Amino acid sequence: MRSISIFGATGSVGEQTVDLIQRAGGAEAYRVVALTGGRNVARLAEMARALRAEVAVCGDASGFAELRERLAGSGVQAAAGPEAIAEAADRPADWVMSAIVGAAGLVPGFRALRHGRTLALANKESLVTAGPLLLAEAAAHGATILPVDSEHSAVFQALTGEDISAVERIILTASGGALRDWPLEALAKATVTEALAHPNWAMGQRITIDSASMFNKALEVIETREFFGVAPEQVEVIIHPESLIHSMVGFHDGAIMAHMGAPDMRHSIGYALNWPARNALPVARLDLAQVATLTFRAPDLTRYPALRLAREVMARRGLCGAAFNAAKEVALDHFLAGGLGFMEMAGAVEATLEALDAEMGSNLPQALEDVLAMDHLARVRAGEVARDRARSR
Ligand code: NDP
Ligand code: MG
Repeated sequence: MRSISIFGATGSVGEQTVDLIQRAGGAEAYRVVALTGGRNVARLAEMARALRAEVAVCGDASGFAELRERLAGSGVQAAAGPEAIAEAADRPADWVMSAIVGAAGLVPGFRALRHGRTLALANKESLVTAGPLLLAEAAAHGATILPVDSEHSAVFQALTGEDISAVERIILTASGGALRDWPLEALAKATVTEALAHPNWAMGQRITIDSASMFNKALEVIETREFFGVAPEQVEVIIHPESLIHSMVGFHDGAIMAHMGAPDMRHSIGYALNWPARNALPVARLDLAQVATLTFRAPDLTRYPALRLAREVMARRGLCGAAFNAAKEVALDHFLAGGLGFMEMAGAVEATLEALDAEMGSNLPQALEDVLAMDHLARVRAGEVARDRARSR
């Protein structure tokens, strides 16, 4: 029986992973080692009982007593706090889902790779901040990383049986997010609720707003460069409002391989779960006659300054990816709290990168500790930048 662990089980990707595991027979079909959550202790305990996990860990240390109480008599061990999450990644499992949001997902992913596992990687922040280190860690321990981000899963699938040297370009599709059709002048006043109304994908709150600002696509451009090892200029972005083509690979002979399907994360999660097999998945089938038309448009960089910043991050290298990701997370916190306007997030991120230029270095990141230190520094600096901007409004 295959053993699995799910990090970030209570989140959007985590819940969809649990759904697929349950549909496949749950504890009868898989030995569930570790399930982790953050603050949602009730849901974590419920899924740990249902899947008969060995251990359930909540990232929030103050949730420990409640978790232990909810698991009493179930045979599931309870643990809490970041160190307990990292230790859970040391428990042997054949397949590990990395779906904690943000930089908190880095350490458990690295720890799982050290044990030579297959890591299904939803946590794109790992590649953006520490891509070369992550790939080196996987290679050193004979571990496999399978992309779960829908675009990267699409590219991975389009590359099956192909040589990466035959690739001319990788074209990432973007829905354009909730504010895609708003006039440029109106974007400055966009509220959190408006930015959350994503047209196609049901995702966690933070990634949904990052879709509207295209900070998510900016991360994905960097993620593509890191994961597939292509040059920055080979990665393109196109707005495709229907979200039915999940991304494309263009080859030197002019052929383009596109991956299509309903916008449902269970496709890419299920692909990673069943890889290299393709098992039936409970996703809607496309009726192309009904779809009738697919549309595309070039992204406007004045609307989406995050895409321009992604190019700068890739050119800068060093710890710039770590600074970019942290600054973006802080800018988003300030947008959520009302301190920064929707269009002010990119300016705050750019100012943070400029302020940290001397600290970033230009070589590849050398150690995970350096990445985590830059993450911390960039959060402090981005917080100062955001507060200054809020005061001078
Ligand atoms: P959610 O916000 O829905 O879920 C995040 C998960 O991480 C939850 O289980 C949450 O716990 C947990 N968590 C949050 N903070 C911490 C912490 N400090 N320590 C430990 N656990 C924590 O995020 P998504 O599922 O949307 O995204 C997860 C990852 O997958 C992200 O990196 C995202 O970019 C990526 N991704 C997501 C896609 C999607 O469709 N949602 C698509 C492609 C990639 P709790 O809820 O209990 O607090
Ligand atoms: Mg994506």
